[in-house]
Amino acid sequence: MISWNRRSVLQGIGAVLASTALLDGAQAQSVPKRKIGYAVVGLGGYATGQIMPQFKNCEHARLVALVSGTPEKLERYGAEYGIPKTHRYSYAEYDRIRDNPDIDVVYVVLPNAMHAEYAIRASQAGKHVMCEKPMATTAAEAEAMIAAAKKAGRKLMIGYRCHFEQHNRRAIELVKTGFVGRPTLITAEHGFFAQGGQWRLDKRMSGGGSLMDIGIYSLNAARYLSGEEPVELVATEWTDRSDPRFKNVEDRIDFQLKFPSGLIANCVSSYSSNHNGFRASGTKGWVGLEPATSYEGHKMWTNHEGKTEQVTLPVPRKNQFVGQLDHLCESILTGIPLRASGEEGLRDMRLIEAIYRSARERRAVSVA
Ligand code: NAD
Repeated sequence: MISWNRRSVLQGIGAVLASTALLDGAQAQSVPKRKIGYAVVGLGGYATGQIMPQFKNCEHARLVALVSGTPEKLERYGAEYGIPKTHRYSYAEYDRIRDNPDIDVVYVVLPNAMHAEYAIRASQAGKHVMCEKPMATTAAEAEAMIAAAKKAGRKLMIGYRCHFEQHNRRAIELVKTGFVGRPTLITAEHGFFAQGGQWRLDKRMSGGGSLMDIGIYSLNAARYLSGEEPVELVATEWTDRSDPRFKNVEDRIDFQLKFPSGLIANCVSSYSSNHNGFRASGTKGWVGLEPATSYEGHKMWTNHEGKTEQVTLPVPRKNQFVGQLDHLCESILTGIPLRASGEEGLRDMRLIEAIYRSARERRAVSVA
């Protein structure tokens, strides 16, 4: 195993990465000191387990309000995070966020089918929006969300936390700077065993099965690793419809993306097997992560001209959650462009629709 700091073989690439890190630091230092207030909507597993505990580590973001349909949750998390009663809202009271000047951003962490409605109402209330992935259940909803934010003159960002995760960032840079040579193949695999009895398995709430939930990581990674947009795709679905979990959503759907450069991405999406990894290969080597898009514990390997090494990166100043929360604030405060905008989410939604179409019609689909 090697540590990134002593990678003399990669001096050129190291210099590029170091300069990127310095630039990030310089940008952060010039951000005004005011903290941006977030309201979190939907106090479920992801919001309470991953997002809310991170505000204390943020430089520019703070948690100021909560929205939930469960009074006990408002009471419990309100007390835990010091949110006064005046800043706790039921869904019926949601539009009153308009009158609360402490709320700058609304973070939508609801089931997928509720994203569009709650994001649009937040924009109409004059608030910036952070919305969880998948951005919506259809491309049409995603377009309406973008239009609403634009009309309000507010930001719309999608919770693509991996765009702020250092191993993913490093993998992107390694592909971009030629470490793997000319990229030829990406493999990206994401899946887990879905437990029954949850909204994810109800198409009206989720918009679809494994692809909407976990396969989107394979899709998004193929796009950010390649730095290209696909021009054609073909997909295959396999679902046991006698399994009560899969009455109306898909289990497995694998898809292949073809990029203009000739690069191909083979992607796995599954609700009946565990996967979390990707590898970008080229004419001179490859870079691979496993786990690649987990909350923590990322592991990275590189192969360059025949030599394979495990790479350890130093602990970052901000983890992916903090990086994501702070980034929207920096964009609001300084005007820097969003790294994971609504348009980025819309591109995935359009491709997801094309993947479903390809599997349904059993043919390759042009997405150029
Ligand atoms: P969850 O089931 O744990 O939480 C959903 C919340 O929505 C609950 O508090 C629930 O009470 C509330 N809710 C309101 N109306 C509801 C309704 N009609 N039906 C069901 N729930 C309702 O789900 P989660 O895992 O927190 O996922 C929420 C969103 O976050 C999803 O869009 C999911 O894709 C996304 N997510 C993202 C990540 C990530 O790593 N970026 C991880 C997990 C979840």
